[in-house]
Amino acid sequence: MPEATTVPTHCPYCALQCGMNLRPTPDAELPVEVTERPDFPVNRGALCGKGRTAPAVLSSRVRLTGPLVRDPATGELVPAGWDEALAAVADGLRRTRTGHGPDAVGVFGGGGLTNEKAYALGKFARLVLGTSQIDYNGRFCMSSAAAAHQRAFGLDRGLPFPLEDVPRTGCVILVGSNLAETMPPALRYLTELRENGGRLIVVDPRRTRTAEQADLHLAPRPGTDLALALGMLHLVVAEGRVDEEFVAARTDGWPAARAGAMSHWPEHVERLTGIPVPLLREAVRMFCEADGGMVLTARGPEQQAKGTDTVGAWINLCLATGRAGRPLSGYGCLTGQGNGQGGREHGQKADQLPGYRKLDDPAARAHVAGVWGVAPESLPGPGRSAYELLDALGGDVKALLLMGSNPVVSAPRAGHVEERLRSLDFLAVADVVLSETAALADVVLPVTQWAEETGTTTSLEGRVLLRRRALTPPPGVRGDLEVLHGLAALLGWEKGFPTDPEEVFDELRRASAGGPADYAGIGYRRIEEEQGVFWPCPETAPGEPPHPGTPRLFLDRFATPDGRARFVPVVHRPSAEETDADYPVVLTTGRVVSQYQSGAQTRRVAELNAAAPGPFVELHPRLAERIGVTEGRPVAVHSRRGTAVAPARITTAIRPDTVFMPFHWPGEGRANTLTNPALDPVSRMPEFKVCAVRLEAVEPA
Ligand code: SF4
Repeated sequence: MPEATTVPTHCPYCALQCGMNLRPTPDAELPVEVTERPDFPVNRGALCGKGRTAPAVLSSRVRLTGPLVRDPATGELVPAGWDEALAAVADGLRRTRTGHGPDAVGVFGGGGLTNEKAYALGKFARLVLGTSQIDYNGRFCMSSAAAAHQRAFGLDRGLPFPLEDVPRTGCVILVGSNLAETMPPALRYLTELRENGGRLIVVDPRRTRTAEQADLHLAPRPGTDLALALGMLHLVVAEGRVDEEFVAARTDGWPAARAGAMSHWPEHVERLTGIPVPLLREAVRMFCEADGGMVLTARGPEQQAKGTDTVGAWINLCLATGRAGRPLSGYGCLTGQGNGQGGREHGQKADQLPGYRKLDDPAARAHVAGVWGVAPESLPGPGRSAYELLDALGGDVKALLLMGSNPVVSAPRAGHVEERLRSLDFLAVADVVLSETAALADVVLPVTQWAEETGTTTSLEGRVLLRRRALTPPPGVRGDLEVLHGLAALLGWEKGFPTDPEEVFDELRRASAGGPADYAGIGYRRIEEEQGVFWPCPETAPGEPPHPGTPRLFLDRFATPDGRARFVPVVHRPSAEETDADYPVVLTTGRVVSQYQSGAQTRRVAELNAAAPGPFVELHPRLAERIGVTEGRPVAVHSRRGTAVAPARITTAIRPDTVFMPFHWPGEGRANTLTNPALDPVSRMPEFKVCAVRLEAVEPA
């Protein structure tokens, strides 16, 4: 039921966190509708189809409206009361902990959880369960960019500048990002860039709708963008385009990075990437001769087993050309999930404590333990990364509490992950629908959705935003904070897990104070009054004006101890799985505009399903002819991990040696059945974007 006339809020889906208004309707089937919120500066009223239709999930007939518990006699999930369901979860977690130790209990979170939930989940894992085994699906999203950001600049914030700066720079290199599909309202920043005379270079193996906007489209073979960046840096040096003054004044480590780049001759880079040398030279000229420049990356370069080094190579290019730490220039990552940024700052990541503090830092442990009222030595150490945790299920991790994620569809080597989940002694899932992962659970807890609860998210710009509750949730569902409160109480923690989001946020502010992601000066009221506040925003002394927040980072100094950025020497290396005679084609995966992540919500929206009803295999006409498949006919894609089958979509917009599949669907067409879980050694990111496959035309079933 709507609670007010019109409530300004934000979209539940991607990291752009578009502003929108929710207005009540007389329609009992759809009690609120989305209207434009033109005053919110990031999207100025524009929304994609996912945002416009988001209320449909609130009143969907398939949403969960009461807990489910697996009946041991029949093996079926059957309705249960909340007391019974919570007791079953507490019992399952307690039994495992007692029998096998705290690290036998795992916790898996999500990049869509609000800051308050991410914070409470990390605290719950480390205090109540005492486990080190917590990570989240954001590890699969932007962790390579986060690691590279930390390594070079000493701090990770997706974009160290607001999006409004993008149209005012001279040239943008957009690497492995298809904004036209992933966050369409952001495309206008690139359109305005070109209207202002700026240049756009898109690096993508597919000629996407985003690439069609570019002045220059470079389509490298998947897995070779590290070599591409090194080749460009080689030319920057060879053509005397290094900003020597900036390099000397603001950076360290240039000689080693320079040597790495100089070993990548343009002709060698052409052989690796397929990009002709003249195009490489044109890209360098465009970037270096512009008045300011940015490199923006997304999942393309990041979701690789060398993702950290690949992003590092693009950062080196920015540093060598003086395009970092200056107004209207820099490197940024276009984070994907709704709270992908905040989700990695507040303690649900295996190695982190709130405020983006490191779990193995004694001072950080002491600070957070002080806020939590426990001894620092009682906090467990760092745990496993997301895939490693999923891979350990049924082994030494025997029970799992999962919130806001659907790894049966979204994890790499998903068939194996599904088997691991099935092998658990106990699985509890909190979700809004019976996702493919929830369907495997022993207990399913139905939780509130975005419009039914208040909480903050942090957008890809590092802008902390507030979603206000606009609807009374159905009687059978509870908020995630209530779930954690109830479980904590059953496990002996009567205090420490409030259900009021503002109370949790105030504690989060204290826990983050003085840390890299300092939220101490950010309060709910201020967020509303200022259309969001950029972190870091420390609390100021009484009587002093409040800190203004920090829309632009690194202008005076980088966040390293000495204030200087670090070049990190990197060299090209092959993907973890190269093509061969048995698997001669490269598979790359990604998204389509009308579905979101594992599709758990968007596959329940009729309008979105009509626009994007199922998976497909995008391939070049020459490849289609070679395997004898025609448009719309089923094609089997085999990798070393399994087979997926989906209709062919034939287009010249993709390289002839590459196929593309979107990953939003389960079942026969599940793209992640095929993907390779080889991990980046620094970020522990799996190699979603590159694996070797074989194609085969099949008869329709
Ligand atoms: Fe929502 Fe992202 Fe679409 Fe904006 S672009 S409406 S935040 S899904």
